[in-house]
Amino acid sequence: MAAAHKKMTANSKKSVTLEGFKRAKIIAGLSGNVALKFVRQIRGSVKVEPGFKEALANVNRKFSSLFAVEEEVSPLDSSKMYIVFFRRPMEFFDSILSERGSTAIDFLLRLSIDEGRGFLKISGNLVFRHAHLETSSGVKRTFLLAVSPIKEAYQHIKIMLAKLDLDVGEDLDEFYSQDLKCFNIICGLGNHASTRPCIYCLWVNGCKSEILYEERTLGGLRSDYQQFFSTPKAKDFNSTQREPILLPHKDPTILLLQVCALPWLHIRLGIVNHVYSKMKREIPQTVMWSSTMDPDLRETNAKRCLRIWTVCRGS
Ligand SMILES: [Zn+2]
Repeated sequence: MAAAHKKMTANSKKSVTLEGFKRAKIIAGLSGNVALKFVRQIRGSVKVEPGFKEALANVNRKFSSLFAVEEEVSPLDSSKMYIVFFRRPMEFFDSILSERGSTAIDFLLRLSIDEGRGFLKISGNLVFRHAHLETSSGVKRTFLLAVSPIKEAYQHIKIMLAKLDLDVGEDLDEFYSQDLKCFNIICGLGNHASTRPCIYCLWVNGCKSEILYEERTLGGLRSDYQQFFSTPKAKDFNSTQREPILLPHKDPTILLLQVCALPWLHIRLGIVNHVYSKMKREIPQTVMWSSTMDPDLRETNAKRCLRIWTVCRGS
């Protein structure tokens, strides 16, 4: 009787296939270890197709070949540096899009270079070309493409970008979204104290007139660099000091405005802080007033903004 009951219970257990479980693991965002623990827990009441552990190991093996670690010598101080980077990221993005049943034409690849906690990182997000379709950003969809414990310097970023070889694909368009300092670096421009520091146009530093300056293009940056290379006087060639390293394969007529997203937060932090500093100088009660209002305007935040502003100014 007991044996018959046991047999019946085993047969009446709901069963989960390996494929079904792998899909659930991805949707729930479970790590391999957590998924294994979960399977052990539910095996009493649910039948899970055998071979789950091996299947997970195979997935991990498949993804481990996506990354490489290479040793380089820093051109800054000849020290050794190790770079972890994504092999053939464009193929990877293509495969993601086909898995989602989407086409590259509906998407843009948003790239971001930044330094934080001692690491220089290049990351990428697939975002919808038309923002109204769906929000597709968010940390879960951010792919870390390259990382290394090195400084945010032109020479280092150049090495990392060369390893990724990003703009080789015909279909997927890229743009950059990052802070102003890093924009100037990848454009090969001088810092924000240069004669023509703007990445978008040929504005002359300090000029307050309403003239519309010529807009910068990828081709313009490249030819400015070529001329600078033969006659190294940056101010004569629109403050270009180095070879531009953003999108080297892309059409020279593309405007920088089309491929470098205006960093709103960065700019607003600077302007808000500037106004705050002036108010504080003229009206001492500003500090008390601001502490009762928007927390972003409090003293400590203002000091942090000032640091960002100083970095942005390149001084
Ligand atoms: Zn400008």
